[in-house]
Amino acid sequence: MKRDMICVSCPIGCALSVELDDKGKVLSASGNTCKRGEKYAIDECTNPVRMLTSTIRVNGGALPVVPVKTSKPIPKGKMFDCMAAINNEVVDAPIKLGDVLISNVCDTGVDIVATNEM
Ligand code: SF4
Repeated sequence: MKRDMICVSCPIGCALSVELDDKGKVLSASGNTCKRGEKYAIDECTNPVRMLTSTIRVNGGALPVVPVKTSKPIPKGKMFDCMAAINNEVVDAPIKLGDVLISNVCDTGVDIVATNEM
């Protein structure tokens, strides 16, 4: 099985091609012009992860929501669960930049942190 993708590790955006066996094991990756592209291709086929950005509702703040992000990339398959957890959360002001607003969101080992103060 062959899978094509664009490397998003830098603005060049090399076109990558990955050969997989029947069980999804990566056999080879091509099209990359550096090692980061090979790692991206393998990770994207075996454990794709993404940063998640959103907002959390705030009680007593100057605005009704505060912007947040994951402290590290999370598994792509956990995105909807993490968004649901974020949507269900309400925090109290004051909030400082970098405050952990949800610890270990959905058992990912990753925190949801504030990206602004409120
Ligand atoms: S393979 Fe290397 S040069 Fe190409 S887009 Fe990825 S990081 Fe950039």
